[in-house]
Amino acid sequence: MAIYNPKSSKAEEFINDEEIRETLAYAEANKNNAELIDAIIEKARPVKTETGCVCRGLTHREASVLLACEIPEKIEKIYEVAEEIKLAFYGNRIVIFAPLYLSNYCVNGCLYCPYHMKNKTIPRKKLTQEEVKAEVIALQDMGHKRLAIEAGEDPVNNPIEYILDCIKTIYSVHHKNGDIRRVNVNIAATTVENYRKLKEAGIGTYILFQETYHKESYLKLHPTGPKHDYDYHTEAMDRAMEGGIDDVGLGVLFGLEMYKYEFAGLIMHAEHLEAVHGVGPHTISVPRVKRADDIDPDVFDGGIDDETFEKITACIRLAVPYTGMIISTRETEAVRSKLLRLGVSQVSGGSRTSVGGYTQEERPHDTEQFDVSDQRTLDEVVKWLMENGHIPSFCTACYREGRTGDRFMSLCKSGQILNCCHPNALMTLTEYLVDYASEETKKVGFKMIEEELNRIPKEKVREIARQNIEDIKNSNRRDFRF
Ligand code: SAM
Repeated sequence: MAIYNPKSSKAEEFINDEEIRETLAYAEANKNNAELIDAIIEKARPVKTETGCVCRGLTHREASVLLACEIPEKIEKIYEVAEEIKLAFYGNRIVIFAPLYLSNYCVNGCLYCPYHMKNKTIPRKKLTQEEVKAEVIALQDMGHKRLAIEAGEDPVNNPIEYILDCIKTIYSVHHKNGDIRRVNVNIAATTVENYRKLKEAGIGTYILFQETYHKESYLKLHPTGPKHDYDYHTEAMDRAMEGGIDDVGLGVLFGLEMYKYEFAGLIMHAEHLEAVHGVGPHTISVPRVKRADDIDPDVFDGGIDDETFEKITACIRLAVPYTGMIISTRETEAVRSKLLRLGVSQVSGGSRTSVGGYTQEERPHDTEQFDVSDQRTLDEVVKWLMENGHIPSFCTACYREGRTGDRFMSLCKSGQILNCCHPNALMTLTEYLVDYASEETKKVGFKMIEEELNRIPKEKVREIARQNIEDIKNSNRRDFRF
């Protein structure tokens, strides 16, 4: 039998079934242990240092106890600390991105995804480079600067060369004052050599959702195709890091399996990356399975209600404080609103989840990967964020300045975020307001920028930011960054 070892390179040893089961039993036995729960929450709380703020995070066992806890006042305390961590490391900034679906050709048989090979009811579509260009222009005209490209797995239709061509095209388009400055990539698990090629193409984060950490269910949910190989899929992030990508994004598709099992697996995966590569995941996504073309989410056993979903998000925030958290338009405005306070730091906006969706007037449904719950425009999302006290940020500075992997984490811990990310957020928000926003959004935005500029601690940085903001307003100069 496999023995738990976070430093192992074997999936069954770092995501160890026996260790997860023991963790769940320990969490269940301690779910009313108020003293232990208090001690765990206190361990997670940010501690001020001379230079900034540090957090110790939680082990998968500790975090699982919090997730199991059913004492209302302790849960409230978990939420409080989640918000504290969020504000300490990410402030009130929310990074904005959009998905770009390149191709829905897929040779896998994933039971929850409408792109599965046997689905004959959806039209199959793959964007040509001309179409990629047109989609990118539409995205730039909305105001986007950061994309996550998505594609099904199909070595014939979507080989790595196709993905690389698309990345090149995306970075080459500069329409009016627009440009895409960071392309994150969500494609199937691949080889070290291909990850190296993605790195050389200048990608930001490599994102791959585990879907489920429960091997037996994984094999059933992925009955055919290359994705059936649980070990190859689970070990993908190690290959990505070996290929030089140091920002990787984890995720579980919540709703498929027992959420407590998934949660423990997810935190163990983060611990494994930290133990082996010295840096944890850059982001964690928390998608929930949604209705889609021939997919009924109710057939899966693990559906979770909104309260449980909020608790999962808050517990992830406590366990891995330096990891960004992403929520997509799979969720409604109301759920997104709550999760933003509990630790989410990135949201998508104005998304279309169909291949070629951005160039069509009406939202197309025939090639959609899942139903979009939040159908507001980007302008509406930006205004809504600001009205709720969040600064929408279009910043992509970190990876372009080489602040990836552990260098990004050190920035987080150094307390320099208010002198760096904060002004960057304000400058990129100004770009958005000047170039793309409606009059109403502009009004809310410029007022917010004026107030937020005063929060930049270093006078010199504050003055440079103020000057750059004036330049953006009065000229075509763009892309200022610290
Ligand atoms: N093909 C790539 C792979 O195999 O990982 C990734 C691209 S896929 C377009 C992106 C993600 O969408 C999947 O990893 C899955 O978690 C999610 N997804 C698939 N079907 C979904 C559904 N019905 N509802 C919500 N999310 C879904």
